Amino acid sequence: MTTAVPQEILDALTDVDMPKLPPEAGPSEAVRLAGIEVPVYRAGCVVVGSGAAGLRAAVEMKRRGDDVVIISQSAWGGTSACSGSDKQTLHTANTADQGDNYKAMARAIRSGGAMDEDTAYVEAVGSSRMMASLQFLGLPLPQDPLGGTLRYQTDHDEVGRATSCGPRTSRLMVKVLAEEAIRLAVPFYNQTTAVKILTEGEGADRHVVGILAMRAGDRTEENPLGIALYATDVIVLAAGGPGELYRDSVYPNGCFGSLGLALEAGVELVNLTESQFGIGTRREGFPWNLSGTYVQAIPHIYSVDADGIEHHFLKRYYRSTQELASNVFRKGYQWPFHATRMLDFGSSLVDLAISSETAAGRRVFMDFNRNPLPVPGDLPFSLERLDEDVRLYLGKAGAGQEMPIDRLKHMNALAIELYRRYKIDIAADPLEFAVNNQHMNGGIMVDTWGRSNLAGCYAVGEAAGTHGVTRPGGAALNAGQVFGTRAAEHISASGRAKRAATGDMSGIAEAGIADLLSALRAESSLTVKAIRSEVQARMSEKAGIICDQSSVARALIEARQLNADIRADGVAYGRAAEAVRGVQWRHMALASEAVLSALDVFIRDGGGSRGARAICDAAGESLPLASAGPLEEYRFRRERDADRDEQIVVRLEGDQIRPSRRANRPFDESARSFFERDWPAWLTGRIYGLTADD
Ligand SMILES: Cc1cc2nc3c(=O)[nH]c(=O)nc-3n(C[C@H](O)[C@H](O)[C@H](O)COP(=O)(O)OP(=O)(O)OC[C@H]3O[C@@H](n4cnc5c(N)ncnc54)[C@H](O)[C@@H]3O)c2cc1C
Repeated sequence: MTTAVPQEILDALTDVDMPKLPPEAGPSEAVRLAGIEVPVYRAGCVVVGSGAAGLRAAVEMKRRGDDVVIISQSAWGGTSACSGSDKQTLHTANTADQGDNYKAMARAIRSGGAMDEDTAYVEAVGSSRMMASLQFLGLPLPQDPLGGTLRYQTDHDEVGRATSCGPRTSRLMVKVLAEEAIRLAVPFYNQTTAVKILTEGEGADRHVVGILAMRAGDRTEENPLGIALYATDVIVLAAGGPGELYRDSVYPNGCFGSLGLALEAGVELVNLTESQFGIGTRREGFPWNLSGTYVQAIPHIYSVDADGIEHHFLKRYYRSTQELASNVFRKGYQWPFHATRMLDFGSSLVDLAISSETAAGRRVFMDFNRNPLPVPGDLPFSLERLDEDVRLYLGKAGAGQEMPIDRLKHMNALAIELYRRYKIDIAADPLEFAVNNQHMNGGIMVDTWGRSNLAGCYAVGEAAGTHGVTRPGGAALNAGQVFGTRAAEHISASGRAKRAATGDMSGIAEAGIADLLSALRAESSLTVKAIRSEVQARMSEKAGIICDQSSVARALIEARQLNADIRADGVAYGRAAEAVRGVQWRHMALASEAVLSALDVFIRDGGGSRGARAICDAAGESLPLASAGPLEEYRFRRERDADRDEQIVVRLEGDQIRPSRRANRPFDESARSFFERDWPAWLTGRIYGLTADD
């Protein structure tokens, strides 16, 4: 892209207006439960969340004639609507150049290990359809004159399967899907937060009968917290990732996800050890990833201490100006932190260096008006003295301008526009940033149709734990679309959501409401603020990119204690809006204990460094080197190959989080379909593997 792109085109890709929601349908009845007048809404299926994944599931169900409603904490909140980067990425099969091979793509998607092989294939083979259907709905993915999709390479992507509409790809996805949901008249309940899943039955017979929500619109004198009952046999959890778990986070504000909600309902979670961390601007300002061209423009990175003194800290890590500059560039497509990239003077030394500066109380900036300062004793920065891959890329991109801001302007003018929208002019001022938590790869354990272990409960998008240790950039958005569609197909085939639920579950709902209210107190030392700061500080400081056995074990003990205190004393609230947050923070405290339990068992059993985390250990085999000498305090354990073949599962039993392990589900690459043989399974719906519970 060049500066010749007219401003109105740039504006249309950065300022994405959302459609107006239709008026809400009223409740079908009201019942008095636990002393409260509770409105009852009835549906065949309730989708929890209106991000790209939830909207996809709702649209696909409605098209199949199901009775589906969407409830959402915030219609255009969440990660899909509010997050992005320089070129926010969709990962789909490569339709241009040499075409693609879905099996090879599946191998690439699961290459980090701890991922179900069938899931990887589902995502790969489903990607073409999901992309075509988004284009059909109006998603403006860029094409060449003959209709091939424009592609590039992103992290964990050797082939170049990435494509993008610009910085706001996922918001544009939400827009086109929401417009379709409105066209199809899918009922939408905004400002509606799911707080408790209602179930009936025991053991394997347990199934969903409804979900309790808190709704600003239903607050009355008789129902001060706005508790509403959604009677339904099927729910799709599409509530996104647990962004609030970490203090240092690039998620938008108010992303709680549904891990705690799911745990309380007996739903199993998987791969909670796996996350993504990388550089970006934090949610206190404008949360945005600094991947792609932001770093490929090679700005100067420095820190400022409490006395206002600048530090050229990267010079302590890299041996030459060329090495330093080339690794800053590589953060563009090696964006997430990865322990092994700290070795051999690789690009994750940049993340380590930045997080060490931040931990030491220094603020870190990127200056687009300065080229990197030289490493002492070495030559100054020059576009001629860069590693070959970097020099070639910048050459091909025509980015030979003298200053980083001009290179950025040339390669991606939208990247600058975007920050301007939030009153940050990176062409004039340095940009403060940090290493942040960005994505939860794990989540609710699902099968290849998005089904959880609880009958009637599906999970899609970031709520589902479908990713392994690594994921190619753009695979999250793809997975949400593919599984949104798959869950809808399965629900529709089961016939359970064709009509609104009619059953009477008032006894179960009453017990649920009583339970909910008993955990909310007018008086308790445990305020939302206190729980938030404790959970977020612990997660960022003890479960970030650098971990070790004893601090994770200590953090787990503290997390357990916090949950015991919450069970004993409840969470304090004043206004009704605080009560919703009180429930969500109770859920977050539980989710945090679940993550730490999984991490603790992984490290205690000898698990090594992989994905987002370096497991530091004085006896570790891997030692990152810096120009100033070996970084002994970051000596880390190598990944153990056996861990790639399995996943850690956690569930709540009573008050205890119970971890266990299971093997990855396999996929037989040699199996071939045969039309006449396999057609009947499709025609009769046998492909859905429906059971009596579905
Ligand atoms: C800065 C950043 C950049 C990213 N870049 C990329 C990228 O380039 N490519 C890629 O593939 N992925 C990227 N991701 C990840 C990707 O954006 C998310 O994984 C994806 O958007 C999640 O979509 P979702 O529909 O599952 O959840 P979300 O979009 O987060 O939607 C969740 C929805 O649930 C609602 N909700 C939450 N809790 C409740 C509740 N209890 N009750 C009712 N409603 C609830 C929310 O209001 C929201 O509507 C990025 C993430 C970040 C933070």
